[in-house]
Amino acid sequence: MSDDVKEVLCVRCPKGCRLKLLLGEEVAVKGHECRLGEEYGKKEATDPERVVPSTVKIMDARWPRLPVRSERAVPLVKVEEVIEELRGLEVEAPVKKGDVIVENVAETSVDMIAERDMEREA
Ligand code: SF4
Repeated sequence: MSDDVKEVLCVRCPKGCRLKLLLGEEVAVKGHECRLGEEYGKKEATDPERVVPSTVKIMDARWPRLPVRSERAVPLVKVEEVIEELRGLEVEAPVKKGDVIVENVAETSVDMIAERDMEREA
């Protein structure tokens, strides 16, 4: 495959069409079956984003790690910085699903939120 062709899987619906992105001044998308796929392909080619799932250490809870995720997708180039910012972070139980764990993570204007409740345990 040449450098100016990229293949990605469309994740906008469970069908999972294989998209071929022809990169140039204008991005052309092939293999999509609907408008959402074309939009997804263009975004992947020009400004890809990802929701970031991770875990952080939690104190005084039943489990040692709390699952968290970014509330929205962040730019793909920022994902490593987001993970780095979470490294070594400790939170205290109790936590409710949806609580903000880190505001404006890695200066993305996106918050990291708790994925589940975690009660305090003595
Ligand atoms: S291109 Fe359309 S039909 Fe295909 S996976 Fe994407 S959203 Fe679904």
